[in-house]
Formats: sequence, C-alpha cells, structure tokens
Amino acid sequence: MPTFEEARKIILDSVVTLGMEKVEILSAVGRVLAEDVAAPWDMPLWDNTAMDGYALWAADCPEGGSLKVAGFLPAGDHMTDEVERGTAVKIMTGAPIPPGADAVVPYEETEEQDGQVFIKTAVKPGDHIRFKGEDVKTGETVLPAGTRLRPSEISMLASFGKLFIPVHRKVHVAILSTGDELVDPGEALTPGKIINSNSLALAAAVVQAGGIPVMLGIARDNRESLREKLAEGLRADVLITSAGVSAGDCDYVRDVLAELMVSQAFWKIDIKPGRPTAFGLRDGKPVFSLPGNPVSSLLTFEEFVRPALLKMMGHRRVLRPMVKATLKEGLRKKPGRVNFIRVAVEQENGDFLVQSAGKQDTGFLKTLLLADGIAVIPAERGDLNAGERVNVHLID
Ligand code: AMP
Ligand code: MG
Repeated sequence: MPTFEEARKIILDSVVTLGMEKVEILSAVGRVLAEDVAAPWDMPLWDNTAMDGYALWAADCPEGGSLKVAGFLPAGDHMTDEVERGTAVKIMTGAPIPPGADAVVPYEETEEQDGQVFIKTAVKPGDHIRFKGEDVKTGETVLPAGTRLRPSEISMLASFGKLFIPVHRKVHVAILSTGDELVDPGEALTPGKIINSNSLALAAAVVQAGGIPVMLGIARDNRESLREKLAEGLRADVLITSAGVSAGDCDYVRDVLAELMVSQAFWKIDIKPGRPTAFGLRDGKPVFSLPGNPVSSLLTFEEFVRPALLKMMGHRRVLRPMVKATLKEGLRKKPGRVNFIRVAVEQENGDFLVQSAGKQDTGFLKTLLLADGIAVIPAERGDLNAGERVNVHLID
C-alpha cells in the first residue's frame, strides 16, 4: 500500500498534459498558455509622457525658467513638427513626446500665466518620459507556454491585440456514483435510501479545478450496470467513481474495471480518512476510484485528483499552498497513517493559527463546511499539543 506521497507521485507521474485549443480571451482566464506568445510590437509603442505637464528641451531650462507655451497635445493626438527652442508644449499623460522635446515637467512643478509657463524645478533629459520599448521589446517572449492567465497576463495579451488565445484544453471528467442505496436529489427518499450527493460534490470540485464534469449518474451494485456506466465513463479524459471499492459483498467496481482493461496502480493508500482510494490507467487514461463516504471522497479528490487535473490542464503549480501553522489546541491522532484533519484557519500577526473544524469522524460533513484547511499530519505522529507547528493545505 503506497504512502500519501508515493500515491501522489504515482498519479502525477502517470498523467500527461492535454492538447491545445484557441479560446476567446475572457474564456482564457485561469487557464494555461499552450504556446509562447511574443510581443508583436514595442511597448510603449513610442516615447510618451508619464505625467500631465509640459514637454520641452531640457537644455532650455536646466535650472528652471520661463518658456512660451507653443501648443497643446492631448492623449490620442500627436505632433509632427519639432518643438521650437525656448518653447514648451502642454501635454497630457500618454501623449507621444513631440519631436525635439526630451523632457516633461509635471504641472505640479509649473505655473502658467499669459501664454508663458514658469518652470519651478531643475530639468534634465529623460525626465517623466516612458521610452519606446522600455517595458517590452518587439519579438520578446513575454508570455511563455505554461503561464497561468491572470488579469495581468490578460492585460498584456490585450495590449498585443490578441483576442484568441492558445490554451490547454479543459479536462472532461466523467463522474459515476455507485450503490443500490442511492437516489438522486429530487427523487423520493424511501426507507433505506440516501441521496447521491457525491456526484454533485465531485462535479463542483471538478468545476472549481477548471474542468468539465460529465455526469454519468448512478450505477447499481451489479456487474451489468457497472460495466455499462464505466465503459461510458472511459470515453472522457478522466473517470472518477465513488464507492464500491471497499471489501464489501456488493463492491464490484474492482472486478469490472479489470474486465475493462484498466490496469490498477494501487487499491488503497495509507491515509486516514480515504484509505479505499484506488488509481488505475486505461491506455494512459486515469481512473480514480474514491471512497463513498462524502467527506472522504472530497478530501481524496482534493489531495489526489485535483493536482492530476491541474497537471493535465497545463498547470505547473498543482498543489495548494502548504503553510506552517500553529495549533491553537491539541489534536487527537493515533500513530500509523498520515491523517488529514479538517481545520479552521485564522491569521494573526503574520502567523497561521489552526484548530479542529469540528468532529473529525468522517460521518460529519458539517466539519468540512467549517474547514478552510487540511492539516496533513505525518504517519508516525501521535496526539499533538497546543502550540505545535503543523503543515496545512489551504483549501479556501
Ligand atoms: P461504500 O464505499 O459503498 O461502502 O460507501 C461508504 C458510505 O458512503 C456509505 O455510508 C454510503 O451510503 C455512502 N455513500 C456512497 N455513495 C454515496 C454517494 N454517491 N453520495 C452520498 N453518500 C454516499
Ligand atoms: Mg456501496
């Protein structure tokens, strides 16, 4: 049985990044560039003023002085005539520096009266000018493949005039719940039945990771039903099943996956909760079999499936931030397995403080609602004391 780290390594080593598609720029937010993007032109496009003020020859007033105001240049306009010596052009932020001028004096340092401007400060060439190509040069690969697109990258792409962006494809994730006890939300809850919440929970987690859920519904605890649904699920990029992989009498998922030529890397992971978490591949396609327990299925999705989906969609950073946090109170733990403990996280004086988000038994879904982190406690550890430092994955 692999450890937590071993299982995650097996998974991440076996999934590969998906191909490329071009999408409209706003659909590219949060996705990952699949090709290098080079600058089609210099930025700034031309020398321009960083301030509202006066463009002039610095040599005309190195220590300040008085100049005739010879023109007005708003943003969006440009001048072709050279600025005459001894004169200044009133200029608005962003406007191209007129020929001849080599400095801008901001309004705040001037006083204008009767067509003359009085410069109250020393001036040297280059003052308050943003130079052509100073930020980005034509041909420079500003956005390499693998870049995650945030508003700042969208800003750069937009200023390159690019409206369709090459990004890695979104992963299609088939989601199958299994169990005779399940009814879908909205259906009659007769005695012995429970609502299939896992399909929607996992779909929500897929959406949050940036993927596209493909809802397969419920397979019943028999081979025929499982065979049909699992075969359908193998048409997606990834297949996730929930429940039916423990050692129970009705747990056929294992057999049917084998029939469908899914070669299994492992059936269990040495963690708590989430021990019955399995992973296999069919022609390179990942198949995750998660525990049926709603808390365990979301925790194992978080720690094992999400990183894999992110890698498939081209992300380089696939793990949530792991921070060191101080325990506000002690935690119970038996030595033996890595434990995932749902914790509430606070920030105080630049430190993270955590405490149990509630009852840790996997029957308590509410505890997950109150959690903003998962404390990952090493296998060998026993009970922990208040004040100890622990590793916490920030999930929120
Ligand atoms: P199993 O892995 O089949 O032993 O199921 C473990 C527990 O999870 C049982 O209490 C099931 O009723 C529950 N469970 C299984 N599948 C789902 C589901 N799709 N939605 C909510 N609970 C589930
Ligand atoms: Mg079951």
